[in-house]
Amino acid sequence: MAIANKIANHISKSSWIRKMFEEGERLRLEVGAEKIFDFTLGNPDVEPPEAFQRELCTLAQNPLPGMHRYMNNAGYEETRAAVAEKLSRDAGLSVSAKHVIMTCGAGGALNVVLKTILNPGEEVIILAPFFVEYKFYIDNHGGVPVEVSTEQETFQLDIDAIEKALTSKTRAILICSPNNPTGVIYPQESLRKLGSLLKNIHRRNGHLIYVISDEPYARIAYDGKSVPNIFPLVESSIIVTSHSKDLALPGERIGYLAANPTMDTVMQFMEGAIFSNRVLGFVNAPALMQRLVAKLQDESVDIAAYQAKRDLLVTSLTGMGFEMVVPDGAFYLFPKSPLTDDLEFVKLAQKHRILLVPGAGFGAPGFFRIAYCVDIDLIKRSLPAWSELAKEAGL
Ligand code: PLP
Repeated sequence: MAIANKIANHISKSSWIRKMFEEGERLRLEVGAEKIFDFTLGNPDVEPPEAFQRELCTLAQNPLPGMHRYMNNAGYEETRAAVAEKLSRDAGLSVSAKHVIMTCGAGGALNVVLKTILNPGEEVIILAPFFVEYKFYIDNHGGVPVEVSTEQETFQLDIDAIEKALTSKTRAILICSPNNPTGVIYPQESLRKLGSLLKNIHRRNGHLIYVISDEPYARIAYDGKSVPNIFPLVESSIIVTSHSKDLALPGERIGYLAANPTMDTVMQFMEGAIFSNRVLGFVNAPALMQRLVAKLQDESVDIAAYQAKRDLLVTSLTGMGFEMVVPDGAFYLFPKSPLTDDLEFVKLAQKHRILLVPGAGFGAPGFFRIAYCVDIDLIKRSLPAWSELAKEAGL
């Protein structure tokens, strides 16, 4: 075989993704792209904020000497300081540039963290439903993913279930808030509970278990809610994030990781992570983007526009009989599948020209995901098709 068995195996296990996209392509050719309601991709349809365009023009008109050269593998000091300043404000404790590494997106940051902390065979707890790529990222670094369910009706953290899943091999718990695919935000109290559970274990037998907090949607929160900063709540925490969603820059591959400054071993972790960033082949995050995002730490795309899309879909679909947890943030809905088999339901939706992702792909069969980072007109135009789909699915 021309490729490694493991990769062939991964590809075949995720073949449903390919099938789904092939079916989408077939439909597009058959009935025309404009007649398809594609809710599959977390690829924002909006443009980056004004401030980004302004900074980009300013930099293009006033190029700095050496601005395209390599820099310190951790990134520019001024960018890391700007990120640290924002984190200090959010966390209410002192984060400095030395606790921050600029990365190639959140995906890059996750791989850097996992490479840095995992010994072969160590376990990483992931909470179902979870972001599809987590298992592959963990496997990249010789780790073993351990799936734990969130609370049935709310998708909130089930701390007892997490505690039961801990073993002597547990190295990290990977959480995502606001969550992809459910949109829920984990409140302060449950993060604090998780933090004290892990702190007690560390005190008792020196077993350090990290919480990796994947938060690319942190600035996309609704109804006046915000995402609690994890640093004061969980000592052994590492934030991984990006500007793929909050500044709508997924193609530019810009993000960062930040380690909790109150963690005893923070500087040892940082030394390891800078090394990993280098040898994973990223070398450093894109220079131009680092310069720009340094000035955009308080900016975001229009959150109210996302909230309007959420409200329209939640109200309309609930009215048709679909059941769902109302998301606090991100741009996904994760309703219950009206058919027991979510793959069958997704196929039925395709008949109505609606493209969705089955919950099975997120480790949560019986649900389906809607990504509503699409034009609101597309959502409005899709409503009659949703209504037909609901009827055919027996709602
Ligand atoms: N984590 C989650 C939960 C995501 O949804 C995504 C992208 O959709 C990523 C990480 C990766 O994002 P990035 O583009 O920053 O690598």
